[in-house]
Amino acid sequence: MPDPAVLLRSATLDGTVTDVLVDAGAVAAIGPHLPAPRGAQVVDLDGRVLLPGLWDAHVHFDQWTLARRRLDLGPARSAAEAVALVAARLRTDPPEPGTVLVGHGFRDALWPDTPHRDLLDRVTGAVPVVLVAADLHCCWLDSAAAARYGMADHPTGLVRERDWMPIMIDVRSTVLDRWCAEAGRAAAARGVVGIVDYEAPWQLDAWAARITGGADALRVVASVWPEALDGSDGPIARGLRSGDVVAGTGGLLTMGPLKVVTDGSLNTRTACCDDPYPGLAGAQARGVLLVAPDELRSLLRRAARHGIGAAVHAIGDRANALVLDTVAALAMTAGPGDAAAPGRRIEHAQLLRDVDPARFAALGVVASVQPAHVLDDRDVADRLWAGRTGRAFPYRTLLDAGVEIVLGSDAPVAPLDPWITIAAAVRRSCDDRPSWHPEQEIPLSVALASSTGPDGPVRVGRRADLCVTDLDPAAVPAATLRTMPVAATMLGGSWTHRAGI
Ligand SMILES: [Zn+2]
Repeated sequence: MPDPAVLLRSATLDGTVTDVLVDAGAVAAIGPHLPAPRGAQVVDLDGRVLLPGLWDAHVHFDQWTLARRRLDLGPARSAAEAVALVAARLRTDPPEPGTVLVGHGFRDALWPDTPHRDLLDRVTGAVPVVLVAADLHCCWLDSAAAARYGMADHPTGLVRERDWMPIMIDVRSTVLDRWCAEAGRAAAARGVVGIVDYEAPWQLDAWAARITGGADALRVVASVWPEALDGSDGPIARGLRSGDVVAGTGGLLTMGPLKVVTDGSLNTRTACCDDPYPGLAGAQARGVLLVAPDELRSLLRRAARHGIGAAVHAIGDRANALVLDTVAALAMTAGPGDAAAPGRRIEHAQLLRDVDPARFAALGVVASVQPAHVLDDRDVADRLWAGRTGRAFPYRTLLDAGVEIVLGSDAPVAPLDPWITIAAAVRRSCDDRPSWHPEQEIPLSVALASSTGPDGPVRVGRRADLCVTDLDPAAVPAATLRTMPVAATMLGGSWTHRAGI
């Protein structure tokens, strides 16, 4: 049965108080003193601000769901402190026998000591423990976990990049689907109506099952990783193109882009840069390149020929330049089959050569960026990218060059909360320190528009994916933006969150 029409009375929309009628999942009318259709639900917003529902353009949803339930290592300021947190958890809330204790969110780049399996073994005994780095690019195992994952003779227990991927997939819990529904409702309570999910390797079928099972609080765009692109179950064999809506999901699930990870991360000192990291020498002193340019070119071309766009992870300046070179080369050599190449975006774009924002614009590459990383990484960037931070997280430069920006959290690297993202985009400090490179802050209107997803501003005919805030975002300081109270969220005309209205 379709939801009844909803008449939103006294909504502040674009600075004007008006009524908004929602019917059949879409905005049906906007104007003062609209009559309520028979059977309509009438909700008085009492002047609260009506906004487009918010999107998070970069999420690892399973990892986020697990991180919400995991031992939080965020407070650890040393390996010893992380071990103490593990010891405390084992005393108060040990995992069920045969299962792994998973901790999440350590940031060891500035620690005075070094993580090592021996440190964990002193407190963990026979319990397998997997500690996941905040940037998801490595994990720290004790000896029991190392044995479990076939790495009994690993020298340190610190497992990085590709070697860590199979462990990441294994630690997904059997209760994940239930937790995902709960995490989706929590996101809706922050005004979120949609996410782009970069969970590896391809979560489309998992999401279809979750949505039919009741996890219906969010729209999901599900990306595919190279290892799942081919094969009889892959999107190419099934004829799925980016933007295709998956049948049976009420329009909530859409096929997304190909996700390719070309370099590592800043904290792990694996982001691929022109200059070496201080204190590193040898082959990996400038980070790592995980996909060679010619391999990237053939991947993107193959995807495009099958209607699949691309979202390419690039953090260091060299990695970004190589991705732009690749996209430029593809444009030069495009054949008839490539005429309508689907959208391409670079994920993260954290450190850019001065010439590259203009190349994003010229090539139509979208910059998918995560402003909360500025707050989390400013001290690390000051040390590891010293002398280069003027072109780190260069959002205003990208904007002024005419580049389309979309905002995300990279949850679980930062919380799945677009208000934290938006606040960090407009003010690059969340403590009492001055803003970090304030010249790269962007206006609130741009931050909101870059968090709005594919539907754009609230207009008649638009899908009724909406959110209502108790305060006017334009009238509060950034600290209040971070914790913006969200009164209600609506997805396709149905409430997914209501608090106090
Ligand atoms: Zn990510």
